[in-house]
Amino acid sequence: MSGRIQWPDGKDFAFTIFDDTDHTIFATVRDVYAFLSDSGFRTTKSVWPVRGKQTPVNGGDTCENPDYLAWVVNLQSMGFEIGYHMTTYHSSLREETIAGLEKFAELFGQYPTTMANHVGCKENMYWGSARVSGVHKCIYNLLTLNRNSKEFRGHIAGDEHFWGDICKAKVKYVRNFVFPEINTLKACPYMPYHDTKRPFVNYWYSSSEGANVKSFNSMLSEKNQDILEEEHGACIMYTHLGAGFYNGRVDAQFQRLMKRLSKKNGWFVPVRTLLDYIAEAQGHHNITNKERSKLERKWLLYKVTIGTT
Ligand SMILES: [Zn+2]
Repeated sequence: MSGRIQWPDGKDFAFTIFDDTDHTIFATVRDVYAFLSDSGFRTTKSVWPVRGKQTPVNGGDTCENPDYLAWVVNLQSMGFEIGYHMTTYHSSLREETIAGLEKFAELFGQYPTTMANHVGCKENMYWGSARVSGVHKCIYNLLTLNRNSKEFRGHIAGDEHFWGDICKAKVKYVRNFVFPEINTLKACPYMPYHDTKRPFVNYWYSSSEGANVKSFNSMLSEKNQDILEEEHGACIMYTHLGAGFYNGRVDAQFQRLMKRLSKKNGWFVPVRTLLDYIAEAQGHHNITNKERSKLERKWLLYKVTIGTT
């Protein structure tokens, strides 16, 4: 497990995006995707299959908007992956999550392969303090003033928000740690990994920090692009393409940087394709206590110093 992998077709590195659907409005995000598509990128766009009834922390369009849905289905047919960002933009009970996943399968012809937890959803999987273990959990609880110690319960059997068994049966990859490094695979050479202490998630993946257009552009600097290429690495950017990438037009700096990246000899495939490939190359991996501890420590340190997600 060196973190260095032979990419297909002689490609020098791999790059993709998991787009968290927060703030996404069809009218503004479609131009961002048209640009990505025209530049040769095929990435992962997450969705909420159901329109919520409550006020969200962060909202946006759902698959109940027919124009938006038609557009997402078309994206899928063009080779983009559709990921899951929970059933809707607020908490869902077990029955609602089950119905939401069925709806997803009906709309996209299959259950989601990749997902990410959404801010504030009580059914999030191993979220809040459950993301980390032992002494790291204590540090996390101190940092967050215990706010997240019992908030997230998707993995707690018997809870009304529990859906761990369904997650295990239907979803392959769940996002956990985000690092401020362009080469995600170097930051987390174990991914995709299984964690026997968190059995309802089949595999975890990490990603690189770039939550909004400003931090995305800074992570995708020329220097970082060249590092990714030189290291023959893999980058999974975690971002919100609905957050500032379009203001009357697609952000000029974003276009310039992504155009530059697109001209390199990179493998630009969705998160699912990339993780499947890495898993195939590296084999099934149960993260060891030592490796988990290392990842958690690194993530906590970043969380304290630069506020990564
Ligand atoms: Zn979100």
